Amino acid sequence: MSFAELGLSAELLRAVEAQGYTQPTPIQTQSIPAVLSGRDVLAGAQTGTGKTAAFTLPMLQRLSQSKAPGRLPRALVLTPTRELAAQVGESVRTYGQHLPLRAMQIFGGVGMGPQTNQLRRGVDILVATPGRLLDHVGQGNLDLSKIEFFVLDEADRMLDMGFIHDIRRVLRLLPDERQNLLFSATYSREIEQLATGLLRNPQRIEV
Ligand code: AMP
Repeated sequence: MSFAELGLSAELLRAVEAQGYTQPTPIQTQSIPAVLSGRDVLAGAQTGTGKTAAFTLPMLQRLSQSKAPGRLPRALVLTPTRELAAQVGESVRTYGQHLPLRAMQIFGGVGMGPQTNQLRRGVDILVATPGRLLDHVGQGNLDLSKIEFFVLDEADRMLDMGFIHDIRRVLRLLPDERQNLLFSATYSREIEQLATGLLRNPQRIEV
């Protein structure tokens, strides 16, 4: 199986090739066509399996296939830590280098000002930790009402870190009509409950 056979566009194939990837990993082989078809996905995958590209590549393609309705963010990826947000944000920029989509990271421990300015200039894709994201919403810097694509990355770690209430607060700010992906290394009753509330008829993927 090749990346081209998974249905990725020429712009994304160029970026993947530049990374030196010759073949998709198992999680990518399963996730990319499912996400491109518009389905919600529940994926069990550890770090190191190529899970970031498994959601980032088809997310970029979905966003590039439809016209931006305005200047508000269209995709939101929630991560448990600033390190992961930085890493995922970097992947989004690398894979999306040939597409006209703007991405930014939002996390705590740094000033609000530069993030606020960047939000004002307009952004398509947000990669964020929950606390700082909600701070920006609370200050009127951020409107999540145009999010079409939502990813919960490392959902089990998010729950372990006590983010469930923040996640639920974020979900209440999103429009009903959207595509959702949940990635978790482990499953528990709490993850299943979260998935049931979040995902509609999801394709389940295990690697
Ligand atoms: P992740 O599981 O997303 O943290 O990715 C683990 C590492 O695998 C990252 O350094 C990626 O750059 C790399 N990677 C992702 N997809 C592929 C692929 N198809 N072939 C080779 N390496 C990959």
